[in-house]
Formats: sequence, C-alpha cells, structure tokens
Amino acid sequence: MANKRDYYEVLGVAKDAGEDQIKQAYRKLALKYHPDKNRGNPEAEEKFKEATEAYEILRDPKKRAQYDKFGHEGVAGFEGFGRGAYTDFSDIFGEFDLGDIFEGFFGSGFGKRGRAGRTRRGHDIQYDMDITLEDAFNGKEVKIDIPRNETCETCGGSGAEAGTKPAVCNVCSGTGQIRRTQGFFTIAQTCYRCGGAGKMITSPCKACGGGGSIVKNRKITVKVPAGVESGSRLKINGEGEMGENGGPRGDLYVVLHIMKHEIFERHGNDIINIVDISFPMACLGGDIEVPTIGGKKAKMKIPPGTDNGHIFRLKGNGIPYLGSYGRGDQLVKINIHVPKKLTPRQKELLQEFAKLDSEAVGSSTRQFY
Ligand SMILES: [Zn+2]
Ligand SMILES: [Zn+2]
Repeated sequence: MANKRDYYEVLGVAKDAGEDQIKQAYRKLALKYHPDKNRGNPEAEEKFKEATEAYEILRDPKKRAQYDKFGHEGVAGFEGFGRGAYTDFSDIFGEFDLGDIFEGFFGSGFGKRGRAGRTRRGHDIQYDMDITLEDAFNGKEVKIDIPRNETCETCGGSGAEAGTKPAVCNVCSGTGQIRRTQGFFTIAQTCYRCGGAGKMITSPCKACGGGGSIVKNRKITVKVPAGVESGSRLKINGEGEMGENGGPRGDLYVVLHIMKHEIFERHGNDIINIVDISFPMACLGGDIEVPTIGGKKAKMKIPPGTDNGHIFRLKGNGIPYLGSYGRGDQLVKINIHVPKKLTPRQKELLQEFAKLDSEAVGSSTRQFY
C-alpha cells in the first residue's frame, strides 16, 4: 500500500478537480488501457486497474473525502474492489454509442440492437425513376408506389394477436439487457432472447407474423421540377421506412434518370439536334421548320451557302434553368443530305452544274472534283 500512487496523479487531475474532469480523465485512460484493446500487455492492464480504482474512489464524494483526509489508508475498506467489481460503464460512456466503443472489445453483437425502448429513426428509401427529356423540360407530377413497412393495423404494431399481450421476456426480465461480468467489471449486452425489446410475443399476430409491421405500397406524389438533370435527387421528408419504438420515419430520395431521346441530345441546358437539308437548299438557302423539345415547330432560315456541319443557335429553346429564370438554347446542326440515287435528268443537270462550277473557279488554286 505504501508504494501506491496518488489517485489524483493516476488520473492526471488536480486535487480540486470537478466530477466532470475526473470522469473525463478516467474515460480517456480507460479507452487507452482497456485490457481487451491491449491483449497480452500486463502493463496496460495494471494501468487500467489503477485508473479504475482511482476513479471508483474519487467519483464518490464520501470516499473522496475519506481519501483526501487519510490517504490510501482511509479508503482501505473500500478496496474490496478488483476482479468482479462493478463499474457502470454506461455512466462513463453515456454520451457515446456503447455499441461503437465496445464492438471492437467484445466482438460484435454488443449494443447493436439498441437498448430496450430506444427510439431510432427509420431508414431512408431510394427510388430510381426514369423520366423523358420532355419531362425534364416541362416538369412533371408523378404518382409512385413505394413498398415500405407500415404499422400492422390488426395488432396496432404490437405484434401480439388480438386479445393477447406480449409477455415480459423471461431472460432479461423486461430490461432488454443482460449484465455480464467480464474481467473485473460488468457490461450490459442486448438480450439474445428478445433482441432488446424486453418483451416476448407468445401468440403472434396472424396478419404480420409478430413483427408488428406489414409491407404495403404507399402512393406518393412526386413533383419533378423543370430543369432537373440525370442523377438529380429529390428528397421527400418523412416518407422513408418507419422508425423503431416511435422514432421518426426516414426520408425518401427519388433519383431521376433521363432516358435517351430519339432526336434531341442534352448538353447542360442546351438541346442539340441534327437537321437534314438538301444540297440545293444549302446552296440557295430557304425556310425550314425544326422540331423543338417544347413540342412546337420552330421556323428557321437557312442562308444561301450553308456549310455541312454548321450550327445554328435558336435562343431560349433549351431546358429551363432549375429553380431560376431563363432557358438554354437549341443548337441545330446542319447535315447536307447527299442523294444516293439520281435520275438521268438529275445527273445531266448536275454534270452541267459541275461544268459551270469548274469554269467559275477555273483560276482558283483550290481543286474541285
Ligand atoms: Zn400484426
Ligand atoms: Zn429479453
């Protein structure tokens, strides 16, 4: 006992440290030197024991006063402590999810299912929806069916058959936890029998099989705003899976996928399409009508001498900017159609044209064939 270190020194706190400081200091040491984290390291185990002992004394105002007055002698009687002693870890680690901390120490299963009665938010649901490019242009209201868990109406969610009540779990006596001594302190584990619920269903509801919920289709109206892109996610609050023990529902995410369009291609907010014109029109110019994503035909002038591949811009005929004013443009790319079959008369005219054309450019350095 003479060579025992001072408890304040062990925890690294001042003599007048407050309860919180002591708790915090111990928590730090406990996490660092925990034997299950330092297997086969007797030094760490010693440190852990030392810190736990110091904490057991200093956390208790009575014992602390005794210790302050008389030192280690003063609390000798309390040292029945040691292997098998009980430290309430939920008190120390209360702010953390016990499951996260202890999973690594004690293997999986601990704390995973949560404590009895613990509320938990439901899972989010993702729903993938295909829409057309026109839908992205106009915006759309779509009704979708989401299969999700709903409270069983027959049993009201209890899982027990009408007229019966769930019995208290006989393994954990309704606490949902089993206290188990490991090494020299006790940990609480989720009850293996009831999964932490604290209750056992003796005659399960026939409608839901005792689970308390049934998968049902829920009709939800989704408003797709104009201007959305492929991969846009629409969040619908509170339409996800139901929570546990009265916890709130998760959210629904609708992920949009824009299908390939037959004639239009989208580049950002611009729409591109290819328009075929005849060779004479490319030379002479003319008026054409082009389809637009909005559905109406747009009138367009082809100027004389239009090159193949030339792009004309129809301002404001593109996709609206999401949540803002204005639209992108429509880009019309010209493809000069070359006829593959010619009548003798057409051939004759073209040959004549070629002759005149070569005379006209005769002195040019460019070669025409
Ligand atoms: Zn039911
Ligand atoms: Zn139980």
